Amino acid sequence: MIEAGQLPHLRALQERGVSADLASVAPVLSPVVWTSIATGRRPEAHGVRFFYADRYSIRVPTLWDRFAASGLRVGLYDYLVTWPPHHLPNGFVVPGWLRRDDSVWPPDLFQRIRLPRYAYSVSNLGSPEEIVANIQREVREKPRYWNRLWKELRPEVGAVTFYALDQMGHRFWYTVPGGSPPPGADPRFTGILPRTVREVDRAVGEIVASLGPADHVLIASDHGFRASARVNRRWGIRQDWLLATAGLDPRRDGLEVLSSFMNLTVRLTPGDAPAKEEALQKLAGFVAKIRAPGGSPAFDPITVHVPERPTDTKGYPDWFAQSLRETLPAYAVYAALVRPEAFERALREGYFLVDGKRVPAGTLAAEHDFTGEHDPVGIFFAAGPAIRHRPGRLRLSVLDIAPLMAYLAGQPIPDDLEGQFQRALIDPGYLDRHPPRTIPAARAPRLPAEKGRTDNAEDEETKRRLRALGYIQ
Ligand SMILES: [Zn+2]
Repeated sequence: MIEAGQLPHLRALQERGVSADLASVAPVLSPVVWTSIATGRRPEAHGVRFFYADRYSIRVPTLWDRFAASGLRVGLYDYLVTWPPHHLPNGFVVPGWLRRDDSVWPPDLFQRIRLPRYAYSVSNLGSPEEIVANIQREVREKPRYWNRLWKELRPEVGAVTFYALDQMGHRFWYTVPGGSPPPGADPRFTGILPRTVREVDRAVGEIVASLGPADHVLIASDHGFRASARVNRRWGIRQDWLLATAGLDPRRDGLEVLSSFMNLTVRLTPGDAPAKEEALQKLAGFVAKIRAPGGSPAFDPITVHVPERPTDTKGYPDWFAQSLRETLPAYAVYAALVRPEAFERALREGYFLVDGKRVPAGTLAAEHDFTGEHDPVGIFFAAGPAIRHRPGRLRLSVLDIAPLMAYLAGQPIPDDLEGQFQRALIDPGYLDRHPPRTIPAARAPRLPAEKGRTDNAEDEETKRRLRALGYIQ
């Protein structure tokens, strides 16, 4: 598309800077790879291996934290695995879609930019139309929000993440030129993926246009895309409908939906055991009443009661006490595993049975047919005064981004990063004037240690308000 002149803004970056194939790390899952980009470390070192990770799961410092500790203003908008938001001094954080509540840092961030709260979200999405509308909203709103954040909060280093192409790539890979539509493909979506790529290019242009001549821009994807060998059907569960119909209120009952895609996974936060048990039984009891036409159960349940964590960890090695504190605390974790035969039948016949009554299939679930899958090689572009122009495509690793970011931010490169500082990307004159420096990781500045996980309410003010509203005791 670049060669055909369809992506003028990416092409402009390529013409004044560099582009590269970007090798990802395994497992090629977004939270894992974005954390490797942020830390410069492999998953084995940073500890994020799956979707349920939160910021406390990251075992090594991120560059964001290191920059903030060195006094730089850092801004993150929709970056994955940043929930709960770190209170970066003079910076801002809007956690990415794995967030478990709407907290941002600073708490009045959206008031400061005088815009209603907006962050990309994937919870409770059903039909393809809803998915497409959600993606279109992202490519339309995000450049405007990011530019406003950039202008008003003036970060020195920042990152904004777009999810549009991942969501589109999975569902609409068949719409690339030469792709073969699966049987029953909706003609309204013809050409939608290439169209979205053009919209993302336009969004890039809008963001780059607001930068100054001394600024650098790096564009990276956590992975690439390719056609999958066959169509893979996935199910999205309407979590809001399910919980409400079961008579549950996530806030009141301390339920947290960890995932409603492919399966429903719910965490019950620690607390008063009889009340938690009642909520758990209500949920499990309701799920058991959901049946396919003909009466077979729609889900296979798993319930795990999580033992209470010891509060006195004296005498344990520090790292062990830390991991005890940081492992997801819960009263229990419940999963309702989709039984594909039951869901297929409900889709074919148009309804589920809930407690013997017919409920339209789309009320509970939506099917998603995946025709695209992750490719382990993504894309990379860089431009700015330090970046030399090189034609052709270079080959880099996602691990090479952290040392480059440190260098471009004028910071010494910590010696625990696993990628290479790629001198070939840097203008030779700039390199002479700004020789790269390294620093032993142990001596690199760090933000003061946090108290560790305190389960949803990080600061006293939030706790006080929740207490006043009767949500906690
Ligand atoms: Zn994906």
